Amino acid sequence: MSDFLKSYEELLAQARKALPEKTQGAERFEPPVVESFMQGSKTEIRNFEVICQKIRRDKQLLLKYFAKEMAIPTTLDGSRLVLHGKFNERMLNEKLRNFIEAYVICKECKRPDTKIVDQSGFKTLICEACGARAPIKL
Ligand SMILES: [Zn+2]
Repeated sequence: MSDFLKSYEELLAQARKALPEKTQGAERFEPPVVESFMQGSKTEIRNFEVICQKIRRDKQLLLKYFAKEMAIPTTLDGSRLVLHGKFNERMLNEKLRNFIEAYVICKECKRPDTKIVDQSGFKTLICEACGARAPIKL
């Protein structure tokens, strides 16, 4: 989703509210949800790029994660990810949640405002909200 759409939606949401108060402090991270469909012996994640943007992770990182977790080849097809196997949406969402838990959410403050820094082969999850650092295995 573009920033323009996002802010447009926010404007709409605010406009719908009769009371302008209480719009602050309601900020919560909503994990993205996989939209997939099976085609023959393959499964496509249609909103793969959107998911990666939302969790601010490299497409290659999530692609490799799915490939490893499912033990199957994966290919990127534009903004979609093609998994060479049949997987239901529930299972894919479970994997995505595990990924977010391990590689996106800060262990200390539970916020998603993190980045992964590679220091001579050792990867560290650094939280931009509280400054916590945690080593991660990738
Ligand atoms: Zn934190």
